[in-house]
Amino acid sequence: MIVTRFAPSPTGYLHLGHVRSAWEGWAAARAAGGRFLLRIEDIDRIRCRSEYDLAIREDLAWLGFHWDGEVRRQAEHLADYAAALRRLDTAGLLYRCFCTRKEIRAEIARAGSAPQGEEAALYPGTCRRLSPRERAARLAAGADYALRLDTAAATAAAGPLDWSEDGRLVAAEPTTLGDVVLARKDVPASYHLAVTVDDALQDVTLVTRGVDLFAATHVHRLLQALLGLPTPAYRHHELLTDANGRRLAKRDKALTARAMREAGLSPAEILEQAQSSGR
Ligand code: GLU
Repeated sequence: MIVTRFAPSPTGYLHLGHVRSAWEGWAAARAAGGRFLLRIEDIDRIRCRSEYDLAIREDLAWLGFHWDGEVRRQAEHLADYAAALRRLDTAGLLYRCFCTRKEIRAEIARAGSAPQGEEAALYPGTCRRLSPRERAARLAAGADYALRLDTAAATAAAGPLDWSEDGRLVAAEPTTLGDVVLARKDVPASYHLAVTVDDALQDVTLVTRGVDLFAATHVHRLLQALLGLPTPAYRHHELLTDANGRRLAKRDKALTARAMREAGLSPAEILEQAQSSGR
């Protein structure tokens, strides 16, 4: 049976881009007589708000995207992510990273390895190279740390991997994202970890999401292999663009489902807009 999901983060109102993602998952499930699940990705307690969670559910229902079964709220399942982290840690694939953002920026600038701006630059692996003594000293001093995946070691341990992207096999290249964070200093799990664990626990068989998350799938595929989880099929859809070909931004308040509804548009009209651009 096909099981899809829509997994918004409640950091704002449902936007036209989200409507497109929700539609992709909902339509794929409904066409195949499968299940369409809703998951609220709210592990970041600072950025997420319960009023947005409620608003998202309301807007989805109004648009006609009825989900099956119970909604999974990530904040209620932190023990699942902790168990996955323990497994990776026991396998020796995680390390503690004490760096602040500022230190990471400085290190990248020093190494002169940020040609496309800091966003494109990977974590330079500073804390992977800490001596056991240095690490012990920082821990003893009570320094906060994030947990990073030693991606090169993990990729070597897992061997070659691929996934099915809309029916075509894609070879996974997890090292392109570097040593990703799996648990943040302030949040006990990261997006990569929680999404991978949840897709498996919810028996999702087809992940539909925007192409902006395509690169993340390389890491998710690796985590599935390391954690012994099944690999769903993937379909990354194009992002919506405006008349000038620019990607729609969350800050475009006029393009929330809510504002469009208030402006008098029907669910069908909003859906049409969500499907028409960005193809
Ligand atoms: N929570 C993520 C977002 O809102 C989507 C996660 C996913 O579909 O994998 O961007």
